[in-house]
Amino acid sequence: MAQRAVFLDRDGTLLEEAGYLDRLERLVFFPYSVDAVRLLNRAGFSVVIVTNQAGIARGIFKEAFVTDAHRHITARMAAGGARLDGFYYCPHHPDAVIETYRKSCDCRKPQPGLFTRAASELGLALDDSFVVGDRWHDLEAGQRVGARGVLVRTGYGKTEEASPTPGVTPSAIVDNVMEAVSWILRTS
Ligand SMILES: [Mg+2]
Ligand SMILES: [Zn+2]
Repeated sequence: MAQRAVFLDRDGTLLEEAGYLDRLERLVFFPYSVDAVRLLNRAGFSVVIVTNQAGIARGIFKEAFVTDAHRHITARMAAGGARLDGFYYCPHHPDAVIETYRKSCDCRKPQPGLFTRAASELGLALDDSFVVGDRWHDLEAGQRVGARGVLVRTGYGKTEEASPTPGVTPSAIVDNVMEAVSWILRTS
């Protein structure tokens, strides 16, 4: 059977929105974040982080910091018996101050490159998968590869809910990532 996945946006969805998250002290989990991931693990989903990190392109933090942050998240998850199966991030931006990262890439959401890369590396069935995010571009990226989208009202979600993006159709809009997981488990 093909492996189903839940793609989770990081900032504003799994973590509190912190603007450009550039220090580990500013990395704040919601009280239910670890439980939400553990429930998905137990239900047999792969759980994959997909995140735009243009702070790298803008010179606000280095790629090594993002790696550190993801190691920190992994440890917190492990302490609560939860597991993330992959971290995929886009370091690019078309207006990057750092030239290496200046491009119109295929991985900055709403482009679907992070999803397709994860799918091929981890063997995921995209059309049997879900994306959870607080921005329409999260759902749009998922929609482009056939994944169903759940918008959460944390982070920028409430603002996004008030101004829909034409062509992006959420399967559900819920308060937070725990409710998103409940919805996914009921639906799938
Ligand atoms: Mg977000
Ligand atoms: Zn990119």
